[in-house]
Amino acid sequence: MSAIEQKSPYQIAQEQFDLAAEFMGLEDDLRHVLRVPKRELTTTFPVRMDDGSVKAFTGYRVQHNVTRGPGKGGIRYHQDVTLDEVRALAMWMTWKCAVVNIPFGGAKGGVVVDPTGLSMRELENLTRRFATEISPLIGHDGDIPAPDVNTNQQIMAWLMDTISMHTGHLESAITTGKPLGLGGSLGRADATGRGVSFVVASAAKFLNLDLNGATTVVQGFGNVGSVSATMLHDLGCKIVGISDVNGGICNKDGIDPHALVRHMKKTRTVIDYPGVERISNSELLELPCEILVPAALEKQITADNAARIRPKILAEGANGPTTPEADEILFSNNVFVVPDILANAGGVTVSYFEWVQDLQSFFWNEDEINHRLKLVMDASFQAVNQRAQAHKIPLRLAANILAIERVAEATRLRGIYP
Ligand code: GLU
Repeated sequence: MSAIEQKSPYQIAQEQFDLAAEFMGLEDDLRHVLRVPKRELTTTFPVRMDDGSVKAFTGYRVQHNVTRGPGKGGIRYHQDVTLDEVRALAMWMTWKCAVVNIPFGGAKGGVVVDPTGLSMRELENLTRRFATEISPLIGHDGDIPAPDVNTNQQIMAWLMDTISMHTGHLESAITTGKPLGLGGSLGRADATGRGVSFVVASAAKFLNLDLNGATTVVQGFGNVGSVSATMLHDLGCKIVGISDVNGGICNKDGIDPHALVRHMKKTRTVIDYPGVERISNSELLELPCEILVPAALEKQITADNAARIRPKILAEGANGPTTPEADEILFSNNVFVVPDILANAGGVTVSYFEWVQDLQSFFWNEDEINHRLKLVMDASFQAVNQRAQAHKIPLRLAANILAIERVAEATRLRGIYP
């Protein structure tokens, strides 16, 4: 990897912010405030393991901005989590919530752990203790966690139960992405991938690209990648490459993602799927295709490989998969990049619907949720794309400008206290 690509996700997020702030002529006072997180909590905490020993784990919860509403954002469990990564993810959540115009600020959490090495009981102990450590920040009107990389409905249930045990009553609106039986929302599990499919459909319409038979590559087969792949397949796209943490598979005649989901349930990986060719994750990104959906981790598309990545549409299911240097290369190669803060905003949008339903104790049906999600995604895509076309700028820059404008306006209206 070239020296320039050694930047942390936080440096990248700040660089993206600076670009937008410069383009829109944002006043210095606001630049100082908006390019850094508001609150950061670092905790190292003990967890009792199954063999009786005690291990120390480190975790973070960062609130980047809470001007437009409570902090919102997931919690990830991953061995490579760093404070700088969580800062970047929190900042991206602020812009994501603003770009789809839902009344939340941005936050994120992470624990440095490889959860695949933990038993269910250890995972529960870790989750409950981490929830307790971050509880001063968490609340339905303060900061609302959700699932992210390697976290799921069960973890959200334990988190919610832990906070509820502290307060003495059910606090269902303090997390989203919960199981349906605990105040979760219909449609939430599929929402991020569904949102990705909506923006791909909008982008294809704008570019006059026929989705029928459109060759599509999806990096990652977790919650976002698997749902994106199945929904794009159902829209007519031909999925020619897919990967997971173990590697990639390809077949130019197409892979049925529904069958792959069933296979994955049995073997826990995509790489031993029959009738396909095995490739590496980096080969996967460079497969010729019309639509590419990176849905894994940050910094996958860099100055080193961007010139060889030539889809018509690149829709970012993951947060931060593309570096600023790669962005420039993709833009000059006419790759239509739908940025993370727009492309994967379906998840947090349905999290917003879940929170609203929990606060009202009044639940909507799935059609209503999917319909409202489509309205939000379509309107947000149009707003960002119009801005991008009017100024001949990349959609990432246009999305950041739109988002920063909304947060800046709210900050000016509220004023600086005291
Ligand atoms: N972790 C997801 C994201 O990065 C969802 C966040 C949420 O629903 O609060 O957008």
